[in-house]
Order: sequence, then C-alpha cells, then structure tokens
Amino acid sequence: MFEVQNQPPPLEPYNAFTSDVVLREAVQREGAGWAENELTALGATLGKPETVQLGFDANRFPPQLRTLDRFGHRLDEVEFHPSWHELLGLALKAGLHSSPWSDPKSGAHVARAAGTYLLGQVESGVYCPIAMTYGSVPTLRHAPAIAAEWLPRIFARDYDRRFRPARLKTAALVGMGMTENQGGSDLRTNSTRAQPSADGSFRLYGHKWFMSAPMCDAFLVLAQSPNGLSCFLMPRWTPGGDRNAIQILRLKDKLGNRSNASSEVEFLGAYAQLVGEEGRGIATIIEMGNYTRLDCCIGSSSLMRQAVAQAVHHARHRTAFQKKLIDQPLMTNVLADLALESEAATVLTMWLARAYDEESETAQIIRRVVTPAAKFWICKRTPFFTYEAMEVLGGSGYIEESIMPRLYREAPVNSIWEGSGNVMCLDVLRAVERTARSAEVLRAELDSAKDPRVKSFADRFEKRITAHDRSDERQARALVRELVLALQGSLLVKHAPSNVADAFCASRLAGDGASAFGLLPPGHDMRAIAERAGPAS
Ligand SMILES: Cc1cc2nc3c(=O)[nH]c(=O)nc-3n(C[C@H](O)[C@H](O)[C@H](O)COP(=O)(O)OP(=O)(O)OC[C@H]3O[C@@H](n4cnc5c(N)ncnc54)[C@H](O)[C@@H]3O)c2cc1C
Repeated sequence: MFEVQNQPPPLEPYNAFTSDVVLREAVQREGAGWAENELTALGATLGKPETVQLGFDANRFPPQLRTLDRFGHRLDEVEFHPSWHELLGLALKAGLHSSPWSDPKSGAHVARAAGTYLLGQVESGVYCPIAMTYGSVPTLRHAPAIAAEWLPRIFARDYDRRFRPARLKTAALVGMGMTENQGGSDLRTNSTRAQPSADGSFRLYGHKWFMSAPMCDAFLVLAQSPNGLSCFLMPRWTPGGDRNAIQILRLKDKLGNRSNASSEVEFLGAYAQLVGEEGRGIATIIEMGNYTRLDCCIGSSSLMRQAVAQAVHHARHRTAFQKKLIDQPLMTNVLADLALESEAATVLTMWLARAYDEESETAQIIRRVVTPAAKFWICKRTPFFTYEAMEVLGGSGYIEESIMPRLYREAPVNSIWEGSGNVMCLDVLRAVERTARSAEVLRAELDSAKDPRVKSFADRFEKRITAHDRSDERQARALVRELVLALQGSLLVKHAPSNVADAFCASRLAGDGASAFGLLPPGHDMRAIAERAGPAS
C-alpha cells in the first residue's frame, strides 16, 4: 500500500465565523457586534465534521416525490433525507428564517445575514425555504388577520418536519409560487385563476412551473382574480384540516441545489386567502422579492467565501515544485485575486444588509437601487469564481468528496431565480429613473471614500446615469457593473487594509480584473491578501 503524502488535512473542525476576518469586521462595522457570541456558536456548530457531513448527505440523497400512497390516494408529499431536516432545524434554531422580524433591533438584518452566510457554506439547498420564509413577512403584513395567525408560527424556532396543518405544528415555513410555464420574468402573463368564494376566501386553478420547497406550510402565490393579478397565501392544508388541492406533478432534475426540491404544481381549486389589495399582486409580492434578492447576494457571497477558504487552506498545505502552492508566485496571484473578489462581495452584501436595518431615505434608496445591482454582479461572478477556486485544488477539486463540485453546481442558481441577470439590470435602470435623489445619494456614498480612483469610476457612472440615453437597455449591464465596482471600491478603501483596497482598485477600477482571476498587476502584497482570506485559526 502506498503512503499518503502531501495531502492537506480536511478544513474541519473549524469555526466558520471566528476564522473569517472579513465577516467579523463587517458584522462589527455594520451594527451587529452584539451578535458575535451567537455567530461564534453557530460558526462552531457549522464547522463540525458531523455538520459538514449533513450537507454532503442532503445532496447525496436528494428528495423523492411521493405522488400517491400504495392504495392510490393522493399524497403529494416530498420525502427528504434526515440530514435535510437536521440542517433546517439548525437554521430555525438560529432564527435565520425570521429573527429580524421576531426580535427587531438595530443590526438585526445584518446579524441574520451573517448567520445565513455561514449556513450557506455548509449547505445551500436549505437556504431556499429559509430565504423565502424570511422574505414572506413584509408581504404577509399586508393582510393583518393572516399575519396575526401566521406570524407567530413563522417566528417560532422549533422546526417541525411533520406534514400536517400548520396550526398543529411547532413552526411553519413559507414558500412562493410566481413562475409559470409561459413566463417567469414577465409575471403579468400569469394565468392561474383565483375564484372568489362566499366566505371571502378564493379557490385557485392553474399551475406553477417552479415552486421550490413544496413541503413548506404555505405559499405566497400570484393569481388572476376578477380585479386583476393578486397575491394570495395558499396553505398546504385547508382550514377544515384537509389536504389542499395542490398536486405536485414532478420535481425538477436540477443542475445543483439538489438537496432542495423544486416542483411543478397544479392547483385544482386550492384554498387561498387574499394578501394585500386585489389587483396589486406584483407590488405586494415584490416586497418579498427585495429580501430574497438580498439573500441571493448573501448566498453567492457565502459560496465564494467557502470556495476561497477551501482554496487557501489547500494551497497552504499542498506542495508542488518544492514550494507550498501558496508560495508559488502565480498561485499567490490567483488566490489574492479570488480573495479580493470574495471580500468585495462580502463587504458590499453586509453593507447592503445594513440598509435593511435602517429607515432613512438614504437606506431606502440603497435598498431599492443597490439590491438588484449587487444581485446581478455578485451572482454573476460566482460561477466563474467557484470554478477557479476548484482548480486551485487540482484534480481533487473536481471530485465529489471535496465540496468544490457542489459549490460550482450551486453557483448559477442565485443569478437565475428571483430575477435573472438582465431583469436585474433593467430593474436598476427603472429604479434610478423613478427614485428621486438616487443619483445624488449614490454619488455621496462613492465620494465618501475620498479616493481619486473611486472618483474617476464614480464620474463614469454619473455620466451614464445623467446622459440622454441613460435608459438604453443595451447598456444596462455596463452601467450596473460600473455602479457595483465603484461601490465595492469605495467600501474597501474605507474599511479594508490598504493592500486589499489598492489591489482591488488597480485591478477592477483601472485594470482588466473582471476578465479572469490571477491577473493582478505587480506591486501588491499578494501573499498578505491571500492569507487574509484563509481560514484563520
Ligand atoms: C432552482 C430554481 C428554483 C426556483 N424556485 C422558484 C420558486 O420557488 N418560485 C418561483 O416562483 N420561481 C422559482 N424559480 C423560477 C425563477 O424565478 C425563474 O426561472 C426566473 O425568474 C426566470 O424566469 P423564466 O425561467 O420564465 O425565464 P424568462 O422569463 O423566459 O427569461 C429568460 C431569460 O430572458 C431574460 N429576459 C427576460 N426579460 C428580458 C428583457 N425584457 N430583456 C432582456 N432579457 C430578458 C432573463 O433575464 C432570462 O435570462 C426557480 C428557478 C430555479 C432555477
């Protein structure tokens, strides 16, 4: 038998929070320093080998649809591996599905963002129902009676895996159904019908082409009522205690996100209650969309973080050509470049999360304009990022026993769902156009860095959004890219060590840094930048 040599030890047990310098700094800076102890405990739990294993198991044993029982009665249930339930239980216990609503305080969204960022590094599939439940709360509040009934269940932290009416469970989760076969981005094409009943509720008839986490206890759904497209809450069980008329037709066979079930469903007169004003369904449900879009930023930043932590860890231990990989100059450049991208994504995401904690006009503008912009850019960078990080591990990175293939397969989904790349960029154009003072507020934010490199980029951005052809859709991606890079540059100049900020500005604001990783120009302490991204002991 050959001797195993030159293989790195696994990166576990480790504390996913305390070993992450960038996240810790962001949590302090953005007003959630009070959550350090809880995040430290969560980070320790998530970094245990047995928790890491749960993520692998949940993906190795994907959910199974049970359409009928052995006698032919409809079941429409999805069976998950116990690891899925354990991870969801852990997430609920940490309040990741609702803590900013159940326990509102300054920094609550930031603290919750940090917690979900940690969770996503172990398993991203469970993140889906967590994100949707978190996002559902502001929408549900449009219907005070429904909110009074459902929010206590949503705020509860004792996960209940049983499939039974929500009133009999210790906690409830909420999903959403918007996308239909004929259209997802263009929600006005929704054809599901909502027929009013004498008791004030509605019966839904139609289908949804994507409805993830179908074992959630209720779903926010769009359907055409007599007064136009409206938002409804559709529970899995009727108030009378019967299974609601929701048939799960099949589960999607997905590229990644395999631990999570995404279903195609048909509604055959499903019981539902109106949420918000009839005919204002998109405006009502879009509030949920803002939060889930923030979660896409958190989720993708989290994938990048796990990928770069694994990459630096590997390179610290693996030797090639008589040197540790991290000491091979070209590899140092690649790692440092990945580190910059990851830090920029994390810093922007946590800063954005803070805007959800504040009610000032500035915070509202940041939420409205920067959420879709950050979702576009951060999510767009992640697939390429995870691929490059995988390559740092060489052949072992391509093997399923490492987490890298899972990170890579997971990476595109945040860009596609909740508004794909183009739709996000067009939304930024719309937001800038319709939000008074947005240009001024963004400019002030960029100028606060007092940095000539950021300023010249900010000038470019300002020129675009004040030009007569500023609404040219063909240029929307270019405009959004400029906004995000300028914001990331400004945040790093203000808050990161100068070697990080300088290398970011040199590569992203002046150079060619967005085309491939490992192209940092000389003159930067790349080793220090790479080390900062490595998991600190
Ligand atoms: C894993 C997964 C889980 C999902 N879960 C859910 C769920 O739980 N609930 C739910 O409702 N949906 C869910 N979705 C669906 C998702 O939100 C949609 O797929 C997404 O919104 C895009 O809609 P579409 O697929 O109909 O694509 P389309 O709307 O047909 O868009 C296709 C492409 O065209 C682009 N495009 C659209 N309009 C324009 C335009 N005007 N100009 C330029 N380009 C444009 C889009 O950016 C996109 O790239 C899920 C999707 C995935 C992959």
